[in-house]
Amino acid sequence: PIYMDYGASTPLDPRVHAVMDDCMRNDFGNAGARVHSFGMKAAAHIDLAREQVADCIAAPKDSIVFTSGATESNNMALFGVLDYLRSIGKTHIVTTAVEHKSVLGPMAEIEKRGFTVSYVQPKPCGMVEGDMVAAAITPQTGFVSVQGLNNEVGTIQPLAEIRAVLPAGIIFHSDAAQAVGKMNFTLDQCGHPDLVTLSSHKIYGPKGMGALYIAPHIRAHIKPLLFGSMYEGGMRAGTVATELCAGFGQAAELVHIELADDLAKMEALRTLFLKKLKGTLPDLVINGHSDAAWRAANILNIRVPGITNEDLLAALPDLAFSPSSACNATRTGHISHVIRAMTGADQPARESIRLSFGRFTTEMEIVRAADMIINAMQTIQKMQGAA
Ligand code: PMP
Repeated sequence: PIYMDYGASTPLDPRVHAVMDDCMRNDFGNAGARVHSFGMKAAAHIDLAREQVADCIAAPKDSIVFTSGATESNNMALFGVLDYLRSIGKTHIVTTAVEHKSVLGPMAEIEKRGFTVSYVQPKPCGMVEGDMVAAAITPQTGFVSVQGLNNEVGTIQPLAEIRAVLPAGIIFHSDAAQAVGKMNFTLDQCGHPDLVTLSSHKIYGPKGMGALYIAPHIRAHIKPLLFGSMYEGGMRAGTVATELCAGFGQAAELVHIELADDLAKMEALRTLFLKKLKGTLPDLVINGHSDAAWRAANILNIRVPGITNEDLLAALPDLAFSPSSACNATRTGHISHVIRAMTGADQPARESIRLSFGRFTTEMEIVRAADMIINAMQTIQKMQGAA
C-alpha cells in the first residue's frame, strides 16, 4: 500500500532512529538520578532535546515541558490554567469549531466544570480571522485557544492577527501539533502564544512524546496534571522517557535545519498530485485555503460530490489515507466536524478525504496514488450511473 496519511503519523526518520537506538542501548539511567553518571547521561540527553525543541520554535530552553504527546499537552494547557482563571474571575474561554478532538474533548469537560466556551465558526476556507475571535471575547474571557494549522484541511490560522485583537491579560494557547514542520512556526511569527502544544510523531519522531511550551511569565498560573516525583521543573511527575525525548529532540533539530527543503519538496508533490487529479476529475472540490501562504504543503483534502469517503475507503484498499481525520477513522466512513463547520452541511463532510504526504513520499507514489483515486472515482460514478 502507498502511505498517504502523514497527518496521522509520520514514519520515524532513520536519523532519529539512530539517536534513539544509541540512547536505549547505552543510556538507560533515570534522568532524575543525577547523583551518578548513568543518571547524568540520561539527563544530558533530555537537556539537549529541550534545547533542540526550544530552538525549533525559537523559544527559551527552560520554557519547554516534555509530555506524552500533543493530547497531554493540550490537556495540561487547558486544565492546568482553570484554577488560575477561576481565581481572577474569568469563566469564559474562546476556541474554534475546527480544533482537534484533543482540544474539543477537554473543552466539553471544562464546560461541565462551570466555564462557558465559545466555539468560533470558520470561514468556508477553514480560517478563523482576528475579528471573528474578537467578536467572541467578553469581559469574562480569560483564555483563547486556536490551532496553528488545521490537521484535516491544512488551513493555517492567522495567529499573529488573532493575538493582536486580544485584550491584554488573556492567556493565548495554540495547538501547533500539525504546524511545526509544515510551516514556519516560531513564537515570533505566530503572535507569541503563551502556551504552545507540540507533538513528536508528526515530525518524524517517536509516538507518545510531545511538549508544552509555557511562556515564563505565565508559568506560575499553570498547574501540573500529574503529581508525584516531580520532573520537568516541577511541572510533571513521572520519569521522563529518555529515548523518546532524545528522538523528539533530533526530529525537532531536523525540522529546524531542513524545513525549507521539506516544504519545497512537499509543495512540488502537491502540485503534481493536483495536476493529475484536476486533469481528469472535472467535479473535484479542494477543501481548505486556496492561497499557498495560508495552507499546508503536505495536505490535500478533496471531494467529488456524490462520492462518499466510505465508498472511497472500500474502493482503495491499497491507499492509506484518512476520511478527513485519522482520529476515530473507521472503514464505515466519517463525517468530519471540520468540513461540516466550514460548509455548514453534512454531505461534503461525508465525502471528503485527506491525503497527506511528507519527507519520504516519492513522485512515483504521488502519480500512482492519483491514478488509483481517479480509477476509483470513475468506477464509483459508473456504478452510480448504472444503478
Ligand atoms: N492536535 C492536532 C492538531 C493533531 O493533529 C493531533 C494528532 N492527530 C493531536 C493534537 C494529538 O497528538 P498526539 O497524537 O501527539 O496526542
